[in-house]
Amino acid sequence: AFDMLVVGAGPAGASAAIYSARKGIRTGIIADRFGGQVMDTVGIENFISVKATAGPKLVASLEEHVRDYNVDIMSNQTVSNIVAAKEVGGLIEIELQSGAKLSSHSVIMATGARWRELNVPGEQQYRGSGVGFCVHCDGPLFQGKSVAVVGGGNSGIEAAIDLAGIVEHVTVLEFSDKLLADDVLIQRANNTANIDIVLQAETTEVVGDGSKVTGLRYLDRDSGVQQHIALAGVFVQIGLVPNTDFIQGTIELTRRGEIIVDERGETSMAGVFAAGDVTTAPYKQIIIAMGSGATAALGAFDYMMRNPLL
Ligand code: FAD
Repeated sequence: AFDMLVVGAGPAGASAAIYSARKGIRTGIIADRFGGQVMDTVGIENFISVKATAGPKLVASLEEHVRDYNVDIMSNQTVSNIVAAKEVGGLIEIELQSGAKLSSHSVIMATGARWRELNVPGEQQYRGSGVGFCVHCDGPLFQGKSVAVVGGGNSGIEAAIDLAGIVEHVTVLEFSDKLLADDVLIQRANNTANIDIVLQAETTEVVGDGSKVTGLRYLDRDSGVQQHIALAGVFVQIGLVPNTDFIQGTIELTRRGEIIVDERGETSMAGVFAAGDVTTAPYKQIIIAMGSGATAALGAFDYMMRNPLL
């Protein structure tokens, strides 16, 4: 059995595994893809102390750092269930899709999240060359240009207000006939000169010139007329979905499916901690995920020190 088993090998999981192994305890990390979302990231300019890097390059360093320690790395494995220990301090069981089972005295869930996509033509083709999901990451690339934000909930309106300070112009496209954001945000957006809000707009295509985004087409659901806007960037803000389907009903989640953690990263299941984008911690960023991985590993180590069975 492991002392600490980390599920997920993005920045949060990698950080948790290193912090755990440095305590000299038997550590394993299991993931269906080493690197997580960072593998899908083209340019990274906000990983403090590294001016600019690319996702796969950062993942290679992450993996090299984890391999420097005595960590059992199990890649290409999908976890399908977690079973609580029979007694406090006992072994927690992790079931894999392959049918195999692993057990550990403590577990760190770091399974991350995925951005909900529009599923329209052009979205995949121009991902990273005009289509973005993270305003904190890619906003500065559009300085002086026009962009659209798709989605009029809190994250969409926050994104629009944030972008309005950097870019030339922001058009918010909301599918329904009203914005779903908090009033204070809506008011601020309405009072910002370079933000336009279009309701009843169904985005139908991201248009490009073959190498980068040049515009966006949407259907005006009120008039039934197709519209085109010329712009350089499209930020999709229609939701971030935590990867927690397989733990529903076992660990306490929010309505949106995020794992509820306390300040030490502890979840509702004894011995199970969580870190990164999968948790309730706000602001989904690499540096934040790494910090929370360290917190969860230290929290889990603390839990084990107090475990009467160990
Ligand atoms: P993830 O990176 O999502 O990793 C999750 C891990 O869990 C993966 O290893 C995955 O394979 C594994 N996993 C999931 N489910 C299972 C399962 N059932 N069984 C086994 N393993 C499982 N942030 C920045 O700070 N700067 C940027 O420039 C930036 N750009 C971004 C660009 C894009 C396109 C995207 C999508 C995100 C970007 N982000 C950026 C956000 C950043 O990537 C995330 O905040 C960060 O990766 C979260 O780390 P994590 O470890 O919590 O989860």
